[in-house]
Amino acid sequence: MPDRAFPLRVHDTLTKRKVRMDPSGKVERRRGLTLYVCGITPYDSGHMGHAFTFSIFDVLVRFVEANGQRIKYVQNVTDVDDPLLERARRDGIDWRDLADRETKVHIRDMTALGWRPPDVMPRVSAEVDGILRAATKLYRSGHGYQTDALYFDVTTYPSYGRLSRLSRRSMIRKLRHEDLLGTVGPDAKRDALDFALWRGSGPGEPAWPSKFGDGRPGWHIECSVMAMRYLGEQIDIHGGGRDLQFSHHESERAQSESLTGKAPFARAWMHTGLVRYEGHKMSKSLGNLVKVSQTLQRAPAAAVRLYLVSHRYSRDWEFTWDGLARAARLAERLRAFLAHDRSGDEAANPRLMAEFTAALADNLDTPRAVRALRAALRQHDATAVRSMLDILVGTASLT
Ligand SMILES: [Zn+2]
Repeated sequence: MPDRAFPLRVHDTLTKRKVRMDPSGKVERRRGLTLYVCGITPYDSGHMGHAFTFSIFDVLVRFVEANGQRIKYVQNVTDVDDPLLERARRDGIDWRDLADRETKVHIRDMTALGWRPPDVMPRVSAEVDGILRAATKLYRSGHGYQTDALYFDVTTYPSYGRLSRLSRRSMIRKLRHEDLLGTVGPDAKRDALDFALWRGSGPGEPAWPSKFGDGRPGWHIECSVMAMRYLGEQIDIHGGGRDLQFSHHESERAQSESLTGKAPFARAWMHTGLVRYEGHKMSKSLGNLVKVSQTLQRAPAAAVRLYLVSHRYSRDWEFTWDGLARAARLAERLRAFLAHDRSGDEAANPRLMAEFTAALADNLDTPRAVRALRAALRQHDATAVRSMLDILVGTASLT
């Protein structure tokens, strides 16, 4: 059902403008849009913050495809990274077993929540050759230097900090807060903002041979390499949670554009808001996680999806059980209506569908799209209800 309200326009964090994801470009028409979303670090099973991000991008993918356009969607698995390796060490288990187990939980959760799976879910551990080639290229072209690790030299990329719009002092403060600052000195980093491309591995950690010494990749280079390997040197949409803006996406952008000499690396950076619970950002350290599996014990999967997408993707919001219960009542009304509907395959009311499409085309305004769904339900338009549910909840069950 191509619609005049298409194409999609999305807000780009870097330029603060809405960017048209226009399918008319010659190359794009053939290969479709390209989307890279930073996936999970598999050391703790998915909570509602993760489910929010991945459900939002599922709506985007389904909306694009429902409008007859192709989209190639890559979501990585960061199975080589400090928090995962620390957890494996603490629990006395092999990092590969932990990563496998938690990746399965993620896929199980998102399958229940009705996603259209990403086209590629690359794992860092299988991408190390490409990562080393990229690190070598950065080193040879003067963007990297080696001391106690191989570092990216941020002074070679003048617009470092522009994506997150943070001052140097704020960037350093955030690195310190996240325990990513490391050491500055003659045998370490030259500058506090420099970050590792390749580093030595600790005991029990995975290590790959390289001319920079046996070791493992830094976090940011992993995503640059996986995005470019599967989607090309420049991508349409790069997504992820807002907490990744700095330092992860800032660094990814610096490396990618330094590697290719092409800008922009992403036509639009889309960032999802953080989910709070009991007044604080959901986080492992605070112990206030609401897991997807807990919500599925209390409500049908479609209700969980409706609850998630009833929030504006770019804003922070607070998870409440009351909010989930309201979404469950809506899901039950939708289920009962569709179960008793005898209207067959009548055409949907075009005004209802136009409003729904306009809502999503305008920077993925999912709360407005949910209002259009409620209007279709009130008007007993089963065809419109089904079309809208296909995009908003995917294959998540109403029962
Ligand atoms: Zn990433």
